[in-house]
Amino acid sequence: MWRDIIDLGRWQGEIWDRRKGNEVYLKFLTIISVKDDYGAQSGYVGIFEDLTDLKYKEESIDKLQNYDILTALPKISLMKKLISEAIEKNLTKCNLKMYLISLSIDNYNDIKDSLGLRKMDDLIMEAVKRLEKSMDKKIVLSRTDKDEFMIFISNFKESELKKFINNVLNNINRPVIIDKESVYLKVTMGICTFFKGERDLNSIIEKANMARTYALQEQCSYIFYKEGLREKFIRKIKMDNALRNVLKNKEIYLNYQPQVDLKTNKIIGAEALLRWKSYEFGRVSPENFIPIAEKNGAIIPIGQWVLEEALKKANAWKKQYFENFCIAVNISPIQFKNTNMFETIKKALEKYDLSGESLEIEITEGVLIDNIKDIKIQLGKIKKLGVKIAMDDFGTGYSSLSYLRKFNFDKVKIDREFVKDYPEGEDGTIAKIIINLSQSLGLKVIAEGVETEEQIKFLRNNFCDQIQGYYYSPPLSDWEFEKLLRKNIMEEI
Ligand code: C2E
Ligand code: MG
Ligand code: MG
Repeated sequence: MWRDIIDLGRWQGEIWDRRKGNEVYLKFLTIISVKDDYGAQSGYVGIFEDLTDLKYKEESIDKLQNYDILTALPKISLMKKLISEAIEKNLTKCNLKMYLISLSIDNYNDIKDSLGLRKMDDLIMEAVKRLEKSMDKKIVLSRTDKDEFMIFISNFKESELKKFINNVLNNINRPVIIDKESVYLKVTMGICTFFKGERDLNSIIEKANMARTYALQEQCSYIFYKEGLREKFIRKIKMDNALRNVLKNKEIYLNYQPQVDLKTNKIIGAEALLRWKSYEFGRVSPENFIPIAEKNGAIIPIGQWVLEEALKKANAWKKQYFENFCIAVNISPIQFKNTNMFETIKKALEKYDLSGESLEIEITEGVLIDNIKDIKIQLGKIKKLGVKIAMDDFGTGYSSLSYLRKFNFDKVKIDREFVKDYPEGEDGTIAKIIINLSQSLGLKVIAEGVETEEQIKFLRNNFCDQIQGYYYSPPLSDWEFEKLLRKNIMEEI
């Protein structure tokens, strides 16, 4: 200050000063040196402005920039600063992992539309309270978007992290009572684990966000980011797009796997199994692509195509080989939920001049869980057409006996799980129980995934009606299946 005044004749700047009442305050001071007529120093003039108000305003601006108005939690910009500081501090500490969790409230918009923005604010405050309840001091919580939060954790062991995640889920999953109604929040988390050496915060945030988006797609509560997740994610998005064009590009076809009567050893029909040979991805297993097609709705036109293609073949084989030929077609729960399957099946049977007896539909328990009343009506009408209904993969889900009875199934398919390891890893008890139980309810039983002679013997001894599996034949192309049919009939003669 003095140097400026002596050299330049003036100084300007902010200084802290004390009022008479001892209160410290900020002022903007200008000091000008005054000279007399001969150029000699005669005094100084000081002009100051009290900056208290301005400082207060600046602080407010800083608050608005760095803190969320509703929750007073740090925003992403401040969160980044806090994380950087924590990483720096941590440098000298022990070698523990750090975690960044990206958390979203998935049903934010649904709840907001029904409750209105005001109530939604209350709900967010309650969510924050519950998140804070799940935490201790080592954690920094920030609100990064209206429905998104970031949680930074340092100095946690993996077991502590798991406990923390469970706490969050338990606390969040309890209903919130608003206007005497229970409202449930649904959250998904993506977790990125990192070490103190990693300083590219944007990449850490991106990884946590990506893991969360992936968890959302997979319908998991949380997923840890792993190497290769990005590639997996991109592949899924590409597959999602490709699946919308499989019909147009003629990339799908059917395989047929014979179903054999255990008493006569004769083929009674076949299960139509969907295959995708993609120009971009090569052959993709239905176990990988059907869940994607179910999510994006492509399963509806694809399923319609499967039904028609299978019935077209059934018509031909029935005419050419034997009258009782029956084709089994898998129907996805999505087709049941979003279309009128009764009308679809009725029209397809008419188109290919078939009676309902030539068709069996395979459904899993997933179909029966929601909207039971409507599904029951649809299935009842489908059965009236003569179409048989088989419960696929029995034993893997709820395996509900009441479903078997209530929905009037004709057949139960024992899942491969209970057959494949017999006799080494599986003593057959579950298969035996399923056979006895189904037959006592008057249902036919078919065992899936039968691969060995020993398994056939076991199933025959336990009066299983039919089998399907590699022992007789893997799924075949239409012409290979026809060859097998011809051979089977010749043997009969
Ligand atoms: P699923 O309906 O339980 O079909 C049986 C699966 O077991 C088929 O797999 C078949 O190839 C396989 N398999 C049959 N015998 C054996 C065996 O002896 N050993 C072994 N290891 N496997 C055997 P795939 O063709 O990969 O189909 C998997 C699942 O994809 C099917 O299970 C079904 O849930 C679904 N799927 C297939 N086609 C369609 C379709 O057209 N529509 C719908 N919605 N789902 C389909
Ligand atoms: Mg099936
Ligand atoms: Mg099955």
